[in-house]
Amino acid sequence: SILADQISAGEVVERPASVVKELVENSIDAGSSQVDIAVEDAGLKSIQVIDNGQGIPVDEIEMAFRRHATSKISDRQDLFQIVTLGFRGEALPSIVSVSDVTMETAIEGKAGTKIHLKGGKILEKQVSESRRGTNIIVNDLFFNTPARLKYLSSVQTELSAITDIVNRLALSHTDIAFSLLSNGRELLHTPGNGNLKQVISAIYGINVAKQMIHFEKQNNDFKVSGYISLPKLTRASRNYVSFLLNGRYVRNNQLSKALVQGYGSKLMVGRYPLAVVSIESDPILVDVNVHPTKQEVKISKEQELCELLSKSVYARISQENL
Ligand code: ADP
Ligand code: MG
Repeated sequence: SILADQISAGEVVERPASVVKELVENSIDAGSSQVDIAVEDAGLKSIQVIDNGQGIPVDEIEMAFRRHATSKISDRQDLFQIVTLGFRGEALPSIVSVSDVTMETAIEGKAGTKIHLKGGKILEKQVSESRRGTNIIVNDLFFNTPARLKYLSSVQTELSAITDIVNRLALSHTDIAFSLLSNGRELLHTPGNGNLKQVISAIYGINVAKQMIHFEKQNNDFKVSGYISLPKLTRASRNYVSFLLNGRYVRNNQLSKALVQGYGSKLMVGRYPLAVVSIESDPILVDVNVHPTKQEVKISKEQELCELLSKSVYARISQENL
């Protein structure tokens, strides 16, 4: 029901940045190589995401906006080996229940669909031209939930939350070309050529990227790799550390601690490095089904992973003449 969707919207889409996250994750799951994002007024006026992914077939379009309709999981086994970013089938119904959405989508070589929904109701549906991919515009977010609107922070804060999320998605998907426009101004543009350092450079600037060093280590269960700043570049904010676990951006305090530990206590008193850490493991070791926004994960053998990370960072830092 629309009410149930609005309730779950409270969990899944608490702010414009969460809408951006869900839409872009859908584009990624659809196998896109290019994702262009444009927001007006930090997403409160509109959020547009255009991708060149596989699109939604005409006969599945209404299904996609229904609750717990995910095309990504077919049985229980899948639930334990999740490789796509979305799997709950909650995002689209939640988003359309609290906004005015127009989506145009087509699969390769077939006529597409243009659909317009407002407050969860379909207002219009028509055949559209066939250009593979999906173009979705979310207007007037939270128009029918004024209480939620009231809780939002300043436009600046909301915009930086959006930038943050797009940066992290770009870092975890270096083979996708992302662009982000805010009121027509370009905030990010990544090449989509698989080069992590170039994405770091697009986000933090070329001078910062140049001074970051690469590290890598693996054991039977995990492979950790990435780029870290040298202590002279460190910033006193945890926000500059990104963990990408099997291509998914995650938060994990133990990993943050392990990273800082790897620097050695003397180098890092009360500070955080700039770091992008990518972790690969068998998906069976990771349980992502813990929280609706999917940023918290449970990792089996977490202690072992933390040790691998701090050792890897320590070994690399020790090679530098500091
Ligand atoms: P989930 O991602 O958890 O499956 P969503 O509510 O985010 O659920 O999306 C519902 C369904 O709509 C997806 O399973 C997918 O089939 C389809 N879909 C949504 N966005 C896109 C897109 N950009 N390209 C292709 N299919 C999409
Ligand atoms: Mg999704």
